[in-house]
Amino acid sequence: MTFKIGVGYDIHRLRKGRKFYLGGVEIPHPAGLMGHSDGDCLIHAVVDALLGAMGEPDIGRLFPDTDPAWRDIRSTELLAQVMERLRRKKIEILNIDAVVIAQKPKLAPYVDRMKEVLSPILGVPQGCIGIKAKTNEGMGLIGRNQAVACWAVALIQKKGERR
Ligand code: MG
Repeated sequence: MTFKIGVGYDIHRLRKGRKFYLGGVEIPHPAGLMGHSDGDCLIHAVVDALLGAMGEPDIGRLFPDTDPAWRDIRSTELLAQVMERLRRKKIEILNIDAVVIAQKPKLAPYVDRMKEVLSPILGVPQGCIGIKAKTNEGMGLIGRNQAVACWAVALIQKKGERR
């Protein structure tokens, strides 16, 4: 049994009038995350953590923003495609942990719903998904409600491999 760990980071600007998606959940807010896809930086960080753990190219290489196929795509769909790659390699996730840094909206009320949405896609129980919401104490771009950032780590294992 081989264990691998990966880390992912993402940040997206907020823009008024866009829908706000985070962790696969639509959250009521006057601004949403900009991006070629739905801008869900939590899922993007998780995807990069998984790809990093697998030693594969990052999300930008896999789903380039020059490709119209990924335009306005839900990030849950991108995550599902990455999960296909894991399954093909007989890799499973042990756990995911993430920190979201957002001044607004208040995310704590939506964390359980995010886990409900992500659990079946990731193929792990909700207890193996950590999501913490922090503010940036009013500092910088994030503190001024101009961006939302996320860090994520993923621990994966491949059965029957010795390294
Ligand atoms: Mg992104």
